Amino acid sequence: MNYDAAFTAALDDLRDEGNYRTFAELERHRGAFPRATRHGHDGADEVTVWCSNDYLGMGQHPEVLSAMHAAIDGAGAGAGGTRNISGNTRYHAELEAELADLHGKPAALVFTSGYVANWATLGTLAARLPGCIVLSDAKNHASMIEGIRHSGAEKRIWAHNELADLEAQLAAVPHGRPKIVAFESVYSMDGDIAPIAEICDLAERYGALTYLDEVHAVGLYGPRGAGIAEARGLMHRVDVIEGTLGKAFGVMGGYIAASAPLVDFVRSFASGFIFTTALPPSVAAGALAAIRHLKTSAAERAGQQARVAELRSRLDAIGVPHLKNCSHIVPVMVGDPVKCRYISDLLLDEFGIYIQPINYPTVPRGTERLRITPSPVHTDADMDRLVAALGELWARCQLARRPMAAQ
Ligand SMILES: *Cc1c(COP(=O)(O)O)cnc(C)c1O
Repeated sequence: MNYDAAFTAALDDLRDEGNYRTFAELERHRGAFPRATRHGHDGADEVTVWCSNDYLGMGQHPEVLSAMHAAIDGAGAGAGGTRNISGNTRYHAELEAELADLHGKPAALVFTSGYVANWATLGTLAARLPGCIVLSDAKNHASMIEGIRHSGAEKRIWAHNELADLEAQLAAVPHGRPKIVAFESVYSMDGDIAPIAEICDLAERYGALTYLDEVHAVGLYGPRGAGIAEARGLMHRVDVIEGTLGKAFGVMGGYIAASAPLVDFVRSFASGFIFTTALPPSVAAGALAAIRHLKTSAAERAGQQARVAELRSRLDAIGVPHLKNCSHIVPVMVGDPVKCRYISDLLLDEFGIYIQPINYPTVPRGTERLRITPSPVHTDADMDRLVAALGELWARCQLARRPMAAQ
């Protein structure tokens, strides 16, 4: 078999659909975010990044950087092993204690990414609770889907955020079987938010464990930045809260916070936790500094919310369609993969604005979009340039201008 020919044919299909992914090569500059240098075939140019998940600019926060420098100077580069074999440090222990406190849980466990946290935790819980059935929201992230699949447990998908469907499916599970209801708080592509209280009511009624991915909410919502469950006073009702250290906290890593036995169970049985090198101490130290800062400072959250509101009202004023939601994510809808990429390319090449197109399979076909994430570090001038560029491109590409129906 000609293996490369097989790979190339598959890639050609992707290209024909307009879904082939190309990565912008960026060089971020400390203190200058959201500005970055983009390196292309024909040299380098300056761009403004509008699609970063470093939502609050914590990736360049002085307290985070100095904690990381101090940890490198103090402890060196890597952890030197798995958590079990010589890689467990005071930095990891302190970070886990901080995360447990953040979410009001007895314990927390750190993984090398949010993806691994979801994959390993759901994979382990669902595989090792005898006869477990996982009830998974239809829009759950790939990392949850892969974890559930890997577990080999029976899975039922409930319609996205639909309580009646969830209840019907819970009611259909034979009595006495272990059940996990897996869902997210802020869904990253539409920016809509789950009815967490009502989901917990149902889970309680049917004796299910609740597993909540707060990846797009930690750092951003709630008085101490613990997420939507905190903002709504519901943390105590959710059994497992999962988060990332790589988005609003600006560094890298993932975690769960839950009861002590559950966390000890995952620590003891999850292959994706056990057999991999621990995060570098500097990464743990940086994440710890970001969490601590955002626990007491609401300025970044308030700044972000103000920027988001400003962008929405300015898009409305020029009729550029965007999905209405209650979060910080502004999805500008294009609805065509080729046009979506084309507009993204023009924004980058002509206006120095970087917004990655979001196409299938990340979102359903026909809902291709530009996912914009305003941050407190975007200035008024940045906003002026973005809105003017979108207005011009909407005219040039003859895209519809209309208010989108409220969700
Ligand atoms: C990004 C993301 C993850 C994975 O987190 P990482 O730390 O980036 O690996 C998990 N869940 C959701 C919903 C995400 O968007």
